[in-house]
Amino acid sequence: MATIKEEDLRVELTEEEFDEDERVYGFDTLALHGGTSPDPVTGAMLTPIYQTTTYAQRGVGQDKGFTYSRSANPTVAALERRLAALEGAEFCTCYGTGLAATTALCLALLRAGDRVIVSQAVYGGTVRLLRDILAPFGVAADFIDSSDEEAVVRALKTPARFVFIETPANPTLKLTDIGLVARHSYEAGALLVVDNTLLTPALQRPFDFGADVVLHSTTKFIEGHNATIGGALVTRDAKLQERFAFVRNAIGAIQSPFPAWLTLQGVKTLSMRMLWHSENAMEVARFLESHQRVSSVIYPGLRSFPQYELAQRQQRAAGALIAFEVEGGVEAGTHLMNSVRLCTLAENLGAAETIITHPASMTHADVPPKQREAAGITDGLVRLSVGLEDTKDLIADLEKALKA
Ligand code: PLP
Repeated sequence: MATIKEEDLRVELTEEEFDEDERVYGFDTLALHGGTSPDPVTGAMLTPIYQTTTYAQRGVGQDKGFTYSRSANPTVAALERRLAALEGAEFCTCYGTGLAATTALCLALLRAGDRVIVSQAVYGGTVRLLRDILAPFGVAADFIDSSDEEAVVRALKTPARFVFIETPANPTLKLTDIGLVARHSYEAGALLVVDNTLLTPALQRPFDFGADVVLHSTTKFIEGHNATIGGALVTRDAKLQERFAFVRNAIGAIQSPFPAWLTLQGVKTLSMRMLWHSENAMEVARFLESHQRVSSVIYPGLRSFPQYELAQRQQRAAGALIAFEVEGGVEAGTHLMNSVRLCTLAENLGAAETIITHPASMTHADVPPKQREAAGITDGLVRLSVGLEDTKDLIADLEKALKA
């Protein structure tokens, strides 16, 4: 973490000072202050919710930077500045959902006849968007094992507009070496897009490894409290930013001010939450690994994790997600998910509360069974998004359910 001088922690920042100061701020200071300063009119410490459709103009062509809330909104813009700061980038556009961000990314960069290369194990909605919506418009998507360097090099022999990776992948937690794929993509003239939803910039910084665009479902850890849906595209490239903002306005996919405001509050505790999630998940993973009814546990913090060394090198901590299988396959896994009380059976991850999910029938149900199998998403796989509860209570809940 960058060192912070005490005098740098003052709250009142003038607009001119802000950019200068942000260069020396550490991550946690940026999570609280990045991109915002007290309201110049009232002194309100929190950025207000600018719940407005339009903005009065002094004269024709004399606006104050905002004209209509489908193009830009001050509360959403504050969140965009903060997320850009946290990823170590200059630009960000926020969207109504994570998938709206993925849609805007594809519409901004792709034309009929273009091809993209995508990690085999990605969020099911990303697969559905590419296969069912964009393929009929003439966009080809090749799904590859992006953790395999040879497969990446082979795929890049045919021109591709961008490579889209998710690391760790949802729900198999397979890792991709971002720096390695960035190098090969750059040499082949393809952009690299990293879905950083599962770790957030608190635990993984894709731009440091050469990414061109970072995508987020802010629905998850960034907002962190199961209260909103949202997405973001972050970049250091002004031309890409211009294109994203143009497409967002053209398709009407901007985030609303209230969820943006809630996300601005949630993100303040991001690194504390991510480290706590990781500590709790480590304890739960160790418990599961030692349990006789559990046949396999995948968690990047465990020594048994096949890419443990890469996790140590690329991530600050292992994160909240655990994937595991119970002896007795699908039936036993289903029974476990129906028996837990404290863990909630639901379709989400990244909340303060622990959530248990069956990817094959829930989040990845629309992924063709063959692709699920190739990606390692077995029918018996259980996904646990470990929350911030006391671990002894989580372990007791799982233990009881496993006995049942
Ligand atoms: N990326 C990842 C890794 C996800 O897990 C999700 C949703 O689960 C998305 C993108 C899509 O985000 P949203 O649900 O906000 O549209």
